[in-house]
Amino acid sequence: MSKSTVDCARCGQTAAPHHDIPYGGALGEEIRNNICAACWEEWLKAEVMTINELKLNFMDPEAQKVLTQQMRQFLLLGDPS
Ligand SMILES: [Zn+2]
Repeated sequence: MSKSTVDCARCGQTAAPHHDIPYGGALGEEIRNNICAACWEEWLKAEVMTINELKLNFMDPEAQKVLTQQMRQFLLLGDPS
């Protein structure tokens, strides 16, 4: 069950989370519980730049791993346990 507000790990504000996170499982849950909607929107913009900069190919599982790492760094989620 998702909360109506989160204490955002990135900006430190207490704000509404984003409800349309394109990740399932533990990662999606972690984002929904720790990241506010505004920071998620910022990542969506940064994601496009990251993909272009690193020339990531979505057919490549290794590229998806890299993108997930970049996302965790951007959102200050720390390393996966
Ligand atoms: Zn935030």
